[in-house]
Amino acid sequence: MDVAVKAKPAVRPVPVIKQVGVIGAGQMGSGITHVIALGKYDVLLTDVRKEAVDKAISTIEKNLGRQVAKGVVNEADMKAALGRIQFAPNLDALGDCDLVIEAATEDESVKRRIFQELCPKLKPSALLATNTSSLSITRLASTTDRPEHFIGMHFMNPVPLMELVELIRGIATEDDVFGVARTFVESLGKTTAVSEDFPAFIVNRILLPMINEAVYTLYEGVGTVEGIDKAMRLGAHHPMGPLELADFIGLDTCLAVMQVLYEGLSDSKYRPCPLLVKYVEAGWLGRKTNRGFYDYRGEKPVPTR
Ligand code: NAD
Repeated sequence: MDVAVKAKPAVRPVPVIKQVGVIGAGQMGSGITHVIALGKYDVLLTDVRKEAVDKAISTIEKNLGRQVAKGVVNEADMKAALGRIQFAPNLDALGDCDLVIEAATEDESVKRRIFQELCPKLKPSALLATNTSSLSITRLASTTDRPEHFIGMHFMNPVPLMELVELIRGIATEDDVFGVARTFVESLGKTTAVSEDFPAFIVNRILLPMINEAVYTLYEGVGTVEGIDKAMRLGAHHPMGPLELADFIGLDTCLAVMQVLYEGLSDSKYRPCPLLVKYVEAGWLGRKTNRGFYDYRGEKPVPTR
């Protein structure tokens, strides 16, 4: 047979992380880029929408400015961090990255297409991480050419403020890849929690059913938007009410996570509330579209029900 077979390296070397790529410049990609640049790594940020990258960079500037005003970051570090962020016009530009973190829309087909296009461009040693909130790491890894170099790296929103990052091994993730990922995350000043690869991992397995229940509470008329949020802020001491929090996360992401829980665990207790579905169908996705359970277009958020 004279077909050239491209040999796959038997054991991939594990890289020293210097250059990081981030795919998806939404709220998470922007926050991840912020903390990585502040952690003294070079970052290449890409998105299918150039305007998302422009918005992400101005959000990072604004948020770093706030950290300087609070005295958490000094002016020189802010300037240096901003200097480390570059726009990558496409996935070709990520060929020299030691680590690429995928933070695109929570949709398995979108993520699969990204990995399929990205993998041939990566160097053999590069690590691949996904910031998915809920999808199977093993299944996503299996769509790549490097399941042993693939890991779940689940940052929390807002990334610059939240301490935790969940790390999730796929079935094939090598121990030294896990070790490099943990050292990297800790070098950003974050604390890690290890979750097994089950739908929505630890934090969202607990948090999202609570949010979904809050939407049912609204749907059934047990309380109003403001009443439900006030009840949970003052009655359970939550810093944010569940509907405000849903708007903050993004209602499309909340729905996607509930669907993964419902289908992945085959249990009716995870059924997404029809009202949540309706908001997403309307394109009322929360803060990112200026309307969700609250309308953010005016000076103060106004409940939409
Ligand atoms: P978002 O809607 O704010 O941003 C998603 C971005 O991905 C958009 O800018 C979109 O243009 C981009 N995108 C879509 N397809 C792409 C492609 N093919 N290539 C490059 N970019 C593409 O969403 P988000 O809240 O930033 O969520 C991103 C990921 O992070 C999801 O997997 C989500 O589950 C996860 N996550 C979200 C939260 C949260 O609170 N929102 C928390 C932790 C993890």
